[in-house]
Amino acid sequence: MGTALEQLVATLGDAVRTDPVTCENYRFDWSRDPTAGIPIAVVRPSNAAEVQAAIRWAAEHRVPVVPRGAGSGLSGGSSAVAGGIVVSLERMCSIEIDVAARVAVVEPGAFNADVKAAAAEHGLWYPPDPSSYEICSIGGNIATNAGGLCCVKYGVTTDYVLGLDVVLPDGTLITLGGKRIKDVAGLSLLKLFVGSGGTLGIITRAILRLIPAQGPRSTLVAYFPTVQAAADTVLTIGGTLRASMMELMDQTAINAVEDYRSMGLDRSAGAMLIAQSDAPGAACAAEIEVMEAACTTGGAKEVFITSDPEEGELFVAARRVAFPAIEARGSILLEDVGAPVPQLPQLLSGIAALAERYAVEIPVVAHAGDGNTHPIIVFDRGDPEARERAYLAFNEIMHLAIQLGGTITGEHGVGRAKKAALPDQLGPEVMALSQKIKNALDPLGILNPGAIL
Ligand SMILES: Cc1cc2nc3c(=O)[nH]c(=O)nc-3n(C[C@H](O)[C@H](O)[C@H](O)COP(=O)(O)OP(=O)(O)OC[C@H]3O[C@@H](n4cnc5c(N)ncnc54)[C@H](O)[C@@H]3O)c2cc1C
Repeated sequence: MGTALEQLVATLGDAVRTDPVTCENYRFDWSRDPTAGIPIAVVRPSNAAEVQAAIRWAAEHRVPVVPRGAGSGLSGGSSAVAGGIVVSLERMCSIEIDVAARVAVVEPGAFNADVKAAAAEHGLWYPPDPSSYEICSIGGNIATNAGGLCCVKYGVTTDYVLGLDVVLPDGTLITLGGKRIKDVAGLSLLKLFVGSGGTLGIITRAILRLIPAQGPRSTLVAYFPTVQAAADTVLTIGGTLRASMMELMDQTAINAVEDYRSMGLDRSAGAMLIAQSDAPGAACAAEIEVMEAACTTGGAKEVFITSDPEEGELFVAARRVAFPAIEARGSILLEDVGAPVPQLPQLLSGIAALAERYAVEIPVVAHAGDGNTHPIIVFDRGDPEARERAYLAFNEIMHLAIQLGGTITGEHGVGRAKKAALPDQLGPEVMALSQKIKNALDPLGILNPGAIL
């Protein structure tokens, strides 16, 4: 491998790093997947041609390649592979706004927050908003089909991807889609790469749809005695109107946030709903009124409403900080299961029952309006018995979601963490078809091996 690596360095110069510190720094994503190996090199290309050169070298020498955005992934999708290289897109981060076409032309390493900010300068908006929007890249968002808080009204990443440049596992650079809003020419290959978790190609440029800037929002915060009462209220509201946000935190999550950063949340509440309306003009207050009535009828013990954006943002920030807050309590296994919205109450009660059965703490935060929940299993990694119970609960929660007609992952992706449960959701025929597609594009199996399939 020594000579082959020298060849890579000769081709790409200082874009290639092979020192142990750098290799260790690019080993894990946020999930700290314990199966992550140590890469032999980290390649940080500056353009698509350099990505092609790296891939061609890897194909020639049969070296695994793990594409990496900002490493904020929660499913081990960008965990490094022992003996492989990591291709980090961090240097490719240009953003260009085409105001007339209402699109952003973006390199994959650009952060979601920077795309939003660039669009905002022109009165435009890129809606997909994972809670991690300040620390994740557009390439990673597209490869995981990331969701977020406003998706309940505005859809997920795929709804905004109009075009992609992708380097295939043989080094070919293809362009799919463009600045066109409508385009049904040929097979829908563009969408094949959205959510493909870096297993089919490396995204080197994206054309993203922008919409007019979001109007002023009003925020409603309601405290409920139980999670069930909150979940039932989510269904009532969802049957009446489309809130622009509908997030839920259970009591353990509320308390974890309060322990981490005191925000004045009601520690005694069984659950908290944070909802927003961005409807124009008087419709905004009308929607909030309807939501307030639903909360009161649904048994809320306190409802708080504000049209002050800063005050509203404080509650949203409490929701955003939930992952790090819960992580501060111990080792975690972060779930991302979803169910059809009418099954949300059953999913939440099933999770509570599993927490009891396996005697583990499972705080829940949820993008409740679209049935996507994040039960977070907290355990002591130093205690093998507790660790085993945590993993049993992790698997059971996925099976619970499947039984309810749901999914093992609503937005974080399968990566390596959820790979074992995928066949149970998809079934043998869909697994076989997925494998055929993978083999057709990547016959050498060099691109992100071990992820998803
Ligand atoms: C605190 C916190 C909150 C979060 N909240 C949310 C949330 O609300 N919604 C949500 O969806 N996610 C959330 N996430 C998860 C994570 O931020 C998203 O999955 C994000 O899309 C990952 O982007 P990244 O740039 O960090 O990608 P990485 O973690 O680097 O990679 C993710 C996957 O994408 C692939 N990939 C990356 N770049 C490319 C590329 N250019 N071409 C091909 N494949 C590529 C990688 O191989 C890997 O499989 C959260 C994470 C944290 C830490």
